[in-house]
Amino acid sequence: MQNTLSCSPQPEIKPVAYFPDLSEYTYIKHLCRPNTLNVGWLDATHPFEKEKTSAEVVSILWDYCKYSIGQTRGFQFCGINCCEYSGTIEYRRSGVLLKLGSAEVRVFGAADKIYAAPNLVYHYVSEHDYKMPDEFVIALMSGPPPGSDEYLERLRASNIPSSMTLSNYTREEAIRRIRTAAQAKGGSDRSN
Ligand SMILES: [Zn+2]
Repeated sequence: MQNTLSCSPQPEIKPVAYFPDLSEYTYIKHLCRPNTLNVGWLDATHPFEKEKTSAEVVSILWDYCKYSIGQTRGFQFCGINCCEYSGTIEYRRSGVLLKLGSAEVRVFGAADKIYAAPNLVYHYVSEHDYKMPDEFVIALMSGPPPGSDEYLERLRASNIPSSMTLSNYTREEAIRRIRTAAQAKGGSDRSN
């Protein structure tokens, strides 16, 4: 019985906002900044291009998801048809559990562009092979890494408030872990 219903709209799913990729970000007024572009605002009715994303890029995307922009009280669920996930979407990587669907991520790109994505983008990439725009992937890989001083400074300079994504760690532990990882990454980059 459940199988026959799996593709039907689920009543507890909140409507997910849809915005075309690379359109101007207008979703949450107090988070609107110049040059901010939408990425990954998918819903059930708009088709999207698919491609398998490399494990390296998925890992970087995960790190961005540790920093939440525009944290809300409620959770959005995946609205894509036939999604096997129902309820709150959680992922665990390297012992870190993140609850996704109630915040956004920010990625800083070239020419002062800022990319705004729901943190469910991690789910869309991982489970639904959503193909992120090329310029967004370049920004993911070349922008200031989340947790680095430069990243936090860019958020501050743009007056974008952030918080730690809901997880199984305390806020202090999460900050320490992210900073340690960012420093290790920066150090290895410089020495190579
Ligand atoms: Zn899904």
